[in-house]
Amino acid sequence: MSAHPPTPDIAPLRIAVLHFAHETVTFLAQDTELNDFIYEGSPCRDEALLQADPRGYMGGFVRCAREYAGIELVGIDSPLFPKTGIGSGWVTQEAYEHFTQAMLRDLADRGPFDGVYMALHGAMAVRGVPRPEAELAARVRRVVGPNAILGATFDPHGNEDEQFLEAADFAFCVKFYPHYDMHLQGERAARAMVRAMRGDFSPTSTTLKVPIVSPTVLQWTGASPWMDLAQQALVWEAREPDTVVNIYFGFPWSDVPDIGMTVQVTTNGDAALSARIAADLARSAWRMRKALLHTTKIHTIDEGIEKARQDMAAGRTPVVLADHSDRSGSATWVLDAVLRHDLHRTLVASVADKALVSRLMREGIRPGASFDHLVGGLVDESAGQPVRVTGTVLGTGSAQDGTGGRSDYVSVRFGAGNVLVISTYLMQIIDPAMFTGMGLDAADFDLFAIKSRVHFRRGFDDTGFAASILLVEPPEPYLGTVRLDGLRYANVRLEDYYPYGDPTFEV
Ligand SMILES: [Zn+2]
Repeated sequence: MSAHPPTPDIAPLRIAVLHFAHETVTFLAQDTELNDFIYEGSPCRDEALLQADPRGYMGGFVRCAREYAGIELVGIDSPLFPKTGIGSGWVTQEAYEHFTQAMLRDLADRGPFDGVYMALHGAMAVRGVPRPEAELAARVRRVVGPNAILGATFDPHGNEDEQFLEAADFAFCVKFYPHYDMHLQGERAARAMVRAMRGDFSPTSTTLKVPIVSPTVLQWTGASPWMDLAQQALVWEAREPDTVVNIYFGFPWSDVPDIGMTVQVTTNGDAALSARIAADLARSAWRMRKALLHTTKIHTIDEGIEKARQDMAAGRTPVVLADHSDRSGSATWVLDAVLRHDLHRTLVASVADKALVSRLMREGIRPGASFDHLVGGLVDESAGQPVRVTGTVLGTGSAQDGTGGRSDYVSVRFGAGNVLVISTYLMQIIDPAMFTGMGLDAADFDLFAIKSRVHFRRGFDDTGFAASILLVEPPEPYLGTVRLDGLRYANVRLEDYYPYGDPTFEV
């Protein structure tokens, strides 16, 4: 065996890594404030940031970047996802400026950098900053200079237009919902950025807004027609080397100017190819617009409960009944219906009531204690009224939510084999295995009443666990509704988008 040839003399490349992400429901009453981003572990920097999300964008980016010799990653002082999860409203300008300026200072102090990787989301909405991710990229560009390679990863619910890539070089958006491929997009970002820094990738992009606005509950990529759209993007990436195809489905509960669907294609120096692929995908989406809006059936709460009763009577169990519309986590509509209809073997997880959980934990409540309290509701009209629950405390603890947040919780046994989980924040249960961590056995229940839109399909649907799946929302078009014309937008003209107006679209 001969020795390896000497490594060519390549100057080490320095990549700054930062994180700033939120999915903002601007219709929620409670702002996302500076303090919501500050908790044990956040903000963080250096290795703590690089190791913050091993299964997500950050993990994929860091793993792949470290496959290369001569790469130095510098974790810039960054806030992690706010502790309110996705259950809080407008990010205050104070919070945005505080963290953005801290990141820019850290970038300036520790530069120069050959590249900056930004783990973003795309649906952060900031008071007074119409396009917070594009604004961040533009400011980062001013600090690191024109030659650095800027790349970012995005959520499919990002609200983006062409402005981000006017300041940055690369964007990589997750293809699937549930978001299975976050780490893969992080890996792709690392590979493309390293190649661009070495002069082997010259990104050129086309971004097209497609005037379709859709509620996220309809955007499941596990079935047609959203699956077809994802497949078409994957086929283009398979056909053409060095092609990045992004479809941002969009997030309509942010009242920002760039809502709606966005198609974005980047190629290695072939502007005509970027334009051709983007046009092909945008035309497909536009052709499919009617089908894209007619996927999952959404029932009223009472319809959903009635169907669940029929399913249980016929032995079609377990049944999942998901209130997709609850954005604060405090909505009590389903809990109220479970009590009114005297359902059995039902697990309600969860109803958020921060004040009650905090008080019970402070008082040192123990399993076996009797429980008689008003629960949830009230944070705004979409949450409904508090509901009185009488039963026995089953357990308390702290649990990871399916979208990365962490809540304290109290679980309560009530009625005939029912359990209610009360949490500090909105808790998305995405897998029945999550109940095990709370000391519950999924086999003890026939009906799972959860708060989730599509994430839950990961553990309840893609696995074949649920025999019946019912999506519900309250009869009024409250803030998480699929009836977007029931919302009071200030920065969006809904009639500019299908299906609320009759826009034309040609490329
Ligand atoms: Zn998302």
